[in-house]
Order: sequence, then structure tokens, then C-alpha cells
Amino acid sequence: MKKRLSNALLSLLLVLSVLFSAGCLDALPDLPGFDPDINEQIPGGEETPGGGEETPGGGDDAPSGSVTLRNPGATPKPVDPAEHPAYSGEPYIAIDGNMPYFTAEEMVTTSFEYYSPLDSLGRCGYTVACIGPDIMPTEERGNIGMVKPSGWHTVKYDIVSGKYLYNRCHLIGYQLTGENVNESNLITGTRYLNIDGMVDFENMVADYIRETGNHVLYRVTPIFVGDELLARGVQMEAYSVEDQGDGICFHIYAYNVQPGITIDYATGLSALAGEPLPPAGEDSGTDIPPEEGAIDPGEVHDYVLNTNTKKFHYPDCSSAKDMSEANREDFTGTREAVINRGYEACGRCKP
Ligand SMILES: [Zn+2]
Repeated sequence: MKKRLSNALLSLLLVLSVLFSAGCLDALPDLPGFDPDINEQIPGGEETPGGGEETPGGGDDAPSGSVTLRNPGATPKPVDPAEHPAYSGEPYIAIDGNMPYFTAEEMVTTSFEYYSPLDSLGRCGYTVACIGPDIMPTEERGNIGMVKPSGWHTVKYDIVSGKYLYNRCHLIGYQLTGENVNESNLITGTRYLNIDGMVDFENMVADYIRETGNHVLYRVTPIFVGDELLARGVQMEAYSVEDQGDGICFHIYAYNVQPGITIDYATGLSALAGEPLPPAGEDSGTDIPPEEGAIDPGEVHDYVLNTNTKKFHYPDCSSAKDMSEANREDFTGTREAVINRGYEACGRCKP
């Protein structure tokens, strides 16, 4: 109980300093009152790992996928695309000075995750999580090809990197909460949204949590207009709790567009820019077998890093299997992100 109490006090201090400091949340409007007992109100609330201790990949016995919404009233304030500039060459824009809309009540340091149920049109709603090392994935990512998010079409264009126009795009990235085949966490997103819009933010948050053991409040809201089946974009908010946004603080809107491609957001139908959209029920682009299209072409992979040799491997590489646990670090992200961390590709499995 002593630990629990000190956690509550710490949370109170954190929130007070958020309220009165010139931190990231300074610009937030109308922070509501804070209940110092909030840690006691959470069903199944566990003491969190102390900050500073590095716990890569989370504990082995960490429960994955526990869904507890701490503040059921805490819903996002969705971006209205009509109030923001149309896409003009940048994959995302900052919203309201890059300040997330989290309230003081949401400043908690116990991990949770929440995924809205699909609506009557089969569309995802917002997802929100307080992500700590304890809910980050420890297992390899599996196939998500059986999920057909709203607006899904399996289409290929030569001008799209990786060919596939659409990816099954995780709202909360797999590397953060390990949610894989969760239809409430997968939308139809362009390759451009996935790679240019979202992945760098996801990896930044994952790296920060891995390095600090701290928690990041994280909310992703797909933005649909009217009854359209394809999201116009994705709103992403993140805020590191223990250091009051020093490590992580952003609020962006990423466009679900693909340069050179015209997209009908009502249906997800698409065509090369300047060409007419195909009739409903027919896809433009190249038809591809479903099993091929089932692979998420996003360049986010599971890798095994050898922290000693600074080589990286695919998980099924024999070198990865033989690696001593002391040198092994599992990583999910883009190849570029691995290389940016100073790793070289293994010559055997050529990841
Ligand atoms: Zn290898």
C-alpha cells in the first residue's frame, strides 16, 4: 500500500506541475480537476515499473491485451478535415500547436488500452492507450491478411512503393501494444499514410518507452467524413506522462492519400490521377491473388537485434535462434529504423 500511495502522490505532483509549469500541456484548454485517488479506482490497476529501469520488450509474464478504459468519459475531439488545409505535399500537419488534447484526469501511469467497437458501417473508432513496457509485444507479429477493414481493396500500382495502394494499417502500431488481428485496430490506409505518415511516430514512441520505462498516453482517431468507408486521415496524439511531455509530445493529422492516385473515399475505389475511377464493384490497378494481397506490405517487420555484434536478423535466421539471450533484443519496425539505431543487416538472412 505504501508503494501505491507514493504512486498516487507522484501522480498528483506530476499533474500539479503540469498545471503550473510551462510544459507541453501549457496550451491545453480547461484542464479539469484531478482526483488524486484515481489509481485506486482502476480495476486491476498494478504498480508500474519504476521509471529509469530499462525493461526492453516488457516482462515475460506481462499480460497482453488487457483492456481497461480508465476514463470511459475521455473521448477524443476529432479533427474536422474541412477546417484544416487539404493535402499539399506533406504527409501530416500539426494540430493546435502540436499539443494533444489529453486532460489532467488522463495523466495516469498504469498501462491500459482501449479499442472502440466497429460502427454500423464496419468502421473503426478511436483507440486510446497508456503504453508502458508491460504491454509492449513480446511475440512475433502474425498474419493479419484475413482482416478486411472498411473500404478495403487489394490493388497494386507501379508508382506506389511496395506496389500495394492499401495497407492494413494499425491504429495503435503493433510495436506499441502488440494488437495484431484486432479488427477494431486496423483501417484501410494508403502505403503513404502507413510509411510516411505514421511509422516514424510509432517507432519514436516505442523507442522512448523502451529506453525510459515511462508511460505514453496515446490516442489514434481515424477521421471519416459522413458515411464514407475510407478514412480521410488519422489523428495521432501522444504525451509522455512521467516527464510531462519532455520525451514525447505531439498531436498530428496524417493524410490518407497516395501521391499520383485518385481515391474515392466513399468506396475506396481508386485510379491513377487523371484517369476515371472504375465502376463500383471493379478495381483499377492490377488484380492480385488474395493470398499475396493478404501480406501487409508495410515495411514494418519483426527483427532480432544482436546488441553485441550490432547485426540484425529475421527472427527465423539460425543466427537469431542461436543468439545468447543477453545480446538479443526483439524489434518491430522498419528496416530504416533498425539501421538508424546503428545496426547492420546479417549477411546470411539478408533482412
Ligand atoms: Zn541473420
